[in-house]
Amino acid sequence: MTTSHVILGDGIAGSSAAETIREADPDADVTIITDEGEPLYNRILIKEFAKGTLPEEPVSIHEEEWYEERDIDLELNTRVTSVDTDANVVEAQDGATYEYDKLLVATGGTPTRLPVENSDAEGVHYFWTFKDARAIRDHAAEAETGVIVGAGLLGIDLAAICGAQNVEADYLMRGNRWWRYALSLDGAEIIHEALRQKGVTPVFDSGVERFEVDDDGHVTGAVDANGEFHAGEFAAVAIGLDFNTAFLEDTAVELDDGIVVDEHMRTGVEDIYAAGDLTRYYDVILDERAQNGSWGSAKEQGVVAAENMVADEPVETFRYVSSYSITHFEFPFLSFGHPTIGDDEAERKYSDTEWRRLTFKDGQLIGGVLIGDLSQQQAFKQIIREERPVADQMEKLLEPDVDLDALPAPAVE
Ligand SMILES: Cc1cc2nc3c(=O)[nH]c(=O)nc-3n(C[C@H](O)[C@H](O)[C@H](O)COP(=O)(O)OP(=O)(O)OC[C@H]3O[C@@H](n4cnc5c(N)ncnc54)[C@H](O)[C@@H]3O)c2cc1C
Repeated sequence: MTTSHVILGDGIAGSSAAETIREADPDADVTIITDEGEPLYNRILIKEFAKGTLPEEPVSIHEEEWYEERDIDLELNTRVTSVDTDANVVEAQDGATYEYDKLLVATGGTPTRLPVENSDAEGVHYFWTFKDARAIRDHAAEAETGVIVGAGLLGIDLAAICGAQNVEADYLMRGNRWWRYALSLDGAEIIHEALRQKGVTPVFDSGVERFEVDDDGHVTGAVDANGEFHAGEFAAVAIGLDFNTAFLEDTAVELDDGIVVDEHMRTGVEDIYAAGDLTRYYDVILDERAQNGSWGSAKEQGVVAAENMVADEPVETFRYVSSYSITHFEFPFLSFGHPTIGDDEAERKYSDTEWRRLTFKDGQLIGGVLIGDLSQQQAFKQIIREERPVADQMEKLLEPDVDLDALPAPAVE
């Protein structure tokens, strides 16, 4: 009997799941439904496109022919509005229905709107899609002043776009530093200096009270928490994601700021799986639920979900150490694992542009941030995967070159 697999979302999680299903089961019916108007593209690269440093073509990953060649039905511009988990039917906004035997939800997130006055004014950008990137690129190319909000991994992309497009920008942050959950002031200062060199001014203990607009409703700047006005005919906000799960609200699928799944990407409802940014998955290395917004992790979750969907039982487990790099500056930057949680930490500065911070939980390394020198990333990822009890070995882990043989043996092979 032919199995019908329906995948919601054609991001990297959904698309890699479709590819995996097709390879594992040449006879299956595979349908991908996406509300975007174009097939999979490289979301990581849209920032380079918005900077003006990359044309459109290399950002695309799949043409529509890619789906045709694999006999995968691709439904573009189709927004899913509900799922009937008793009848196994997905319904879209245009009334179309899709029956499934197995359903994968990989609909990711939508940027959270800043809850202040005029946060949806013309000229205030939120950044997630290629369409957003086109609007940002065009606007930044003609703007002279900008305001950026959101001191995290996406906010810094927006700041770098301003830098690359010669927009003189103020980067408003709530605390005393960029990405305060993962970096100490020592590490963050390296980033602040690099931002300044690009013409972006970090403004600390700030944040937006409201945006100001002109008579045409176009943004002119932001008033910060201290009452100060920052001019910005271009404004951009990246304060997090709202996960796209509204169509599951009337179902028994457990939602908890995302979709709760086990280590096999299964929800608690039979035949429904989830993968990518929106999962709150069981992390078998951390031994607790975790969330992860990165390309590599979303891709791997798509593959794991697909293999389990085809096998009809759990044959693959998601056991993965993710990483996320930033390439805007003259020095490299990489975060890996879970750098924002933990019960202990260690850090060291090696030079003006070299710094390292490691985080630990229950005696194990669980994540970190490397600035300047990424040469030890594989060693750190291996230590995490092997669950070595290294929390009392901080000095050795802070050595420029980590000697794996000098550390406690792996707890997991
Ligand atoms: C500008 C930018 C830069 C980034 N840089 C990096 C980086 O350097 N490194 C890194 O690791 N990660 C980076 N990321 C994060 C990375 O892109 C994501 O983690 C990854 O793309 C998540 O993939 P996903 O498939 O889970 O979700 P998404 O890529 O968000 O795909 C979900 C898809 O589902 C669609 N959808 C949503 N709701 C519905 C609905 N109701 N009906 C139908 N379709 C729907 C969405 O439109 C979307 O196409 C970046 C993200 C952005 C935006």
